[in-house]
Amino acid sequence: MSLPYPDRTLYYSGSQQPSTSNKTFQTIDPSTSQPLANIHISSPSDVDTAISSAQKAFPSWSATPPIERARILQKAAAILRARNNELAEIETHDTGKPFSETSGVDIVTGADVLEYFANLVGGGGLNGETIQLRPNAWVYTTKNPLGVCAGIGAWNYPIQIALWKSAPCLAAGNCMVYKPSEFTPLHSTVLAEIYSEAGVPPGVFNVVQGAGDVGAYLTQHPGIAKVSFTGQVATGCKVAGSAAGGMKYVTMELGGKSACIILPDADLEQAVDGAMMANFFSTGQVCTNGTRVFVPKTMKSAFEKRLLEKMQFIRAGDLMDPSTNFGPLVSKPHLDKVTSYIKHGIETDKATLLYGGLDTPSWLQTTPIKDYQKGHWIQPTVFTNCSDDMRIVKEEIFGPVMSILAYNSIEEVVARANNTSLGLAAGVFTKDLNLAHQVIAQLEAGITWINSWGESPAEMSVGGWKMSGVGVENGRRGIEAWVRTKSTLVDMGGEVATVFAKL
Ligand code: NAD
Repeated sequence: MSLPYPDRTLYYSGSQQPSTSNKTFQTIDPSTSQPLANIHISSPSDVDTAISSAQKAFPSWSATPPIERARILQKAAAILRARNNELAEIETHDTGKPFSETSGVDIVTGADVLEYFANLVGGGGLNGETIQLRPNAWVYTTKNPLGVCAGIGAWNYPIQIALWKSAPCLAAGNCMVYKPSEFTPLHSTVLAEIYSEAGVPPGVFNVVQGAGDVGAYLTQHPGIAKVSFTGQVATGCKVAGSAAGGMKYVTMELGGKSACIILPDADLEQAVDGAMMANFFSTGQVCTNGTRVFVPKTMKSAFEKRLLEKMQFIRAGDLMDPSTNFGPLVSKPHLDKVTSYIKHGIETDKATLLYGGLDTPSWLQTTPIKDYQKGHWIQPTVFTNCSDDMRIVKEEIFGPVMSILAYNSIEEVVARANNTSLGLAAGVFTKDLNLAHQVIAQLEAGITWINSWGESPAEMSVGGWKMSGVGVENGRRGIEAWVRTKSTLVDMGGEVATVFAKL
């Protein structure tokens, strides 16, 4: 049977390469379960070859002046923008996210980051510093690329994650071997071709394909200097542990269970819009989602009433229809996982089901989706009267499931918001900016918002605290994750030499 997209092979030495494993898997459209393409699975020797292609490319790419690297990467950003809708359609089919979302966010935010890091290194962002010690002695530092780096991606923002990793990696003079998630691999070789078309030399950006075993082989490989990983906390622990054995640099972008705090004076409309954005965008499959919605007890019933009215604006439908703003979950295993959490919330946690639940077929009856049973659809769900010890409140569900938690005082809400091992994101909604800053300062999270949720521009460094991660991506600090520093002390006085000369 012919599939909608051509095979996704591996990519190294500047071109597509078949795998030597003779094994493939199929990626599917989550809205219909229809296969989209055959994906070649990398054998260990394919990973070795991809790494050696990167090792060959490294001396020349790292010696290329930053301004020349910048020019090439800017060209790649321009190609991405010119092909935005075509790439967005690929991402919509692979992830199940509506085209209204992928065409406005996924490629745009990836291209922005590529342009940002190209401009940063082209403008001297890789310069070191000079520290004068004495009139005749000083220290100077240089920032040096690490070598061949691994990028391992999650499935929720495929091309964006690939770009957030490869942009600073390549801009700093490194080479990359990238493994996309096995659930959403369609973008990977297209991105590699775009880099080649822009002038990125063969071997600088390479793609291997497969599941966790391929990621594990890549991570432990002695030819890899750094692993930049996005995924679940449990996987991140394994990857960081393996990388530690080779004393490799790591960046870990992991899961969250973030607190969205509605402060007592918040504008009701803005608070409800913010909480919906923090729970239902991308069908809840966003790492920074504010799934613990803390609402003052005095505002709870008004908040819930307005929320119920606005839930009607969530529209499932044909993913290419511009008015559709809600898609299916990415895969059958993920649908099973989210369903089991909703079931647990109803039956075991005994939270109050305010909206949604397990009867997705009834919810979808009013939509034009044909054969929705074949896709991985689930309706958005809101639980209220939740308590901090419920499983649905404690664990990352990574689906469209909001938990409303009532509180009495600021001191109480801050303590409860921080009572988690995760610390990815947090945010407050309020008109009182003094209070906003006071609360934000006490929250244990790496990414925070005031009267906003989810925006993550190229200029903003993002990364989790506690078990949610190590290091940051993006912003000025983002480039530091891809270089190592050499410090050199220069002494024109010859003072060290005289110590022994006197003995
Ligand atoms: P996952 O951990 O299951 O898989 C992520 C990647 O790791 C995949 O490519 C997978 O093949 C690979 N992998 C699996 N086992 C491996 C191993 N032992 N060694 C090396 N690689 C291995 O995560 P997922 O389900 O794809 O993604 C969802 C998770 O990602 C959520 O927890 C979400 O919060 C998180 N996420 C975090 C961020 C962030 O920036 N903090 C962004 C997006 C997603």
